[in-house]
Amino acid sequence: MNMMTRPPDQAEREADPLDALFDTMFRPMNARGVYARTGAYEAVVEALAALISAKREADTEIFRFPPVMSRADLERHGYLASFPNLLGCVSCLEGTEAEILAMASRHGRGEDWTEGLRTADLVLTPAACYPVYPIAAARGRVPDRGYRFDVACDCFRREPSRYLDRLQSFRMREYVTIGTPEQVAEFRERWLSRATALADELGLSYRIEQASDPFFGRIGVVKAISQREQALKFELLVPLRGEDSGTACMSFNYHRDHFGTAWNIALADDAPAHTGCVAFGMDRLAVALFATHGGDLSLWPQTVRAALSL
Ligand code: ATP
Ligand code: ZN
Ligand code: MG
Repeated sequence: MNMMTRPPDQAEREADPLDALFDTMFRPMNARGVYARTGAYEAVVEALAALISAKREADTEIFRFPPVMSRADLERHGYLASFPNLLGCVSCLEGTEAEILAMASRHGRGEDWTEGLRTADLVLTPAACYPVYPIAAARGRVPDRGYRFDVACDCFRREPSRYLDRLQSFRMREYVTIGTPEQVAEFRERWLSRATALADELGLSYRIEQASDPFFGRIGVVKAISQREQALKFELLVPLRGEDSGTACMSFNYHRDHFGTAWNIALADDAPAHTGCVAFGMDRLAVALFATHGGDLSLWPQTVRAALSL
């Protein structure tokens, strides 16, 4: 018998300050970044959701999306050109009863049953706003006042991590706008100040920084530089590991006409619509609250408990 065990990687050995909160927030589910959530944690997530709902602007349409979406739609969004490494794709055993049984029974013999899987027409939704653009596109020209949506979704990203603020399965809530460049710019300005006010109410320390998306590959580096140059993305970072660290708990995104062009969403003058969104990482915010105020809800500052009605 080989007694050698593989040395754990560096990250595995180093203690992380968030680890002490694991039992308060989560239970293991035998996969990294996929956790059962405790009642206390979920109470905070629900309270956060209610607080964010209370900030909803007038004339905002609500949609709640399932955790899967059309693979063809995601392809049309251009996701494969930017984040192919993060995508989770649904695959299923398909065929006649005999074929499916033959594949499934391999498992009982200790063989690989997954060889029989076929890629389905579904992917795991990677961001809450993706499904809303085809819905808007189907309505024809964007009305002059533009659109505002309130969306939420369980999102999946293939980024397994031992850190409790980076999950593979997490909840995202977003306010989205579709309209002219001016309308999107105003929307983002409004939400930058509303969201920082919200972080103040929650007693979180934070800073707002310009950011870029982690576009995949060498071409991705160029895309990220261009995104920064155009100031298309900002993040609200909460320091969870000392002053210099920062975990993105919200992001403020201006997509220019990317989705408007991909989906033929046209403005009154036929120009492609511009879009933008503010995204709240619900799990990140909950983790940040526990990390900031501690594991015992009854000991949280009175102002924070009042804001959350906890
Ligand atoms: P990061 O730079 O931390 O990977 P991101 O730029 O990929 O974040 P967005 O694509 O802007 O994040 O997603 C919107 C929000 O969703 C983020 O601000 C964050 O709060 C949350 N989020 C993103 N990825 C994760 C994850 N793996 N686990 C938990 N929350 C996440
Ligand atoms: Zn979005
Ligand atoms: Mg990311």
